[in-house]
Amino acid sequence: MDGLLSIGDFSARCGLSAKMLRSYAAAGLLVPAAVDRVSGYRYYSTSQLHQARVVALLRRAGIAVSDIAEFYDHPDPVQLDHWEREVARDSMTRRQALVQARAALALGEVPPPASAESSRKGSEMRTNFLAGVATQKGGRDTNQDAVLVGDGLFAVADGLGRRGDVASRLALDTLGVAFAADRSISGLLNACREANQAVWQQASAEGEDAPMGTTLAAVAITSDVGVVVVHVGDSRLYRFQQGRLDQLTLDHTFVGDLIRSGKLSEEDAQTHPHRQILTRALGVGPVADIDFAGVSCEPGDRLVLCTDGLFRALPADDLEAGLATENGPQQSADQLVATAVARGAEDNVTAMILAA
Ligand code: MN
Repeated sequence: MDGLLSIGDFSARCGLSAKMLRSYAAAGLLVPAAVDRVSGYRYYSTSQLHQARVVALLRRAGIAVSDIAEFYDHPDPVQLDHWEREVARDSMTRRQALVQARAALALGEVPPPASAESSRKGSEMRTNFLAGVATQKGGRDTNQDAVLVGDGLFAVADGLGRRGDVASRLALDTLGVAFAADRSISGLLNACREANQAVWQQASAEGEDAPMGTTLAAVAITSDVGVVVVHVGDSRLYRFQQGRLDQLTLDHTFVGDLIRSGKLSEEDAQTHPHRQILTRALGVGPVADIDFAGVSCEPGDRLVLCTDGLFRALPADDLEAGLATENGPQQSADQLVATAVARGAEDNVTAMILAA
């Protein structure tokens, strides 16, 4: 049997204030179920608590009251997918503005809005890197790592699943074509979304027996905010600057999350039963959460894109030592990969060195 609750009691139990509840009711959402014919007071039913809690969550996700009311009038689970994409786009837009603000502060000038026709004068913008790349299959039967050295776009991808080689190649090809058509940061992020879609559609078409996905780590020279890194999964970007190596990306892995929250040591992570679990990858769902950030680099710096096969076989100290030579990027890449393989790398090993 349903109980009746005054607006105060209902508010206390669902966490929405009385004021909010009144405004929702005015919009046709969570209308009190009963009214006292004598006093005119309105009552909620305990059976409305569930809806109230869902409404509170949707509001916290930033969904408009009118949209929630519409949803309850015509409930359709597809709407939730739609909202999820909307939230992903919003957060992407906010992060993008932040990267642009950071770049503008560094350059001392605000980039024109994306719609503006004007193109930036290129003088202070980096136009290219000298790239060297090496990849070997290491301890595996096939090499599922893929690389891309394009015009202002440099990427590595590590395929996942039995058809991982298809996924990593498809992702990089799609990324390259899409970025060539729009070299702004928006274009770059769109290119990542297209790459995700391409792999996701391919995986869906091939079915359950051919699961696939891929990591991605890419450095792009964008037309509006300079050098930007995008990444998903556990492929990495390092910067070697004045003799010091910094990891610029955070792995999207189960153990990575544990390490960052202080619950697991780097050492124990090497043998953790879930050390192979990625928390994000490209092509494993309709939407991928892509990390991106501006990268500052000075002449003489080296950027290193690599797959996990490299850093699992070569600890950071060895990587740093391998870069502290007079070698050109191609020689460095060859040497790092050869060393990792010689040390018995169990996985595919890929390194791309960009000389600034
Ligand atoms: Mn790998």
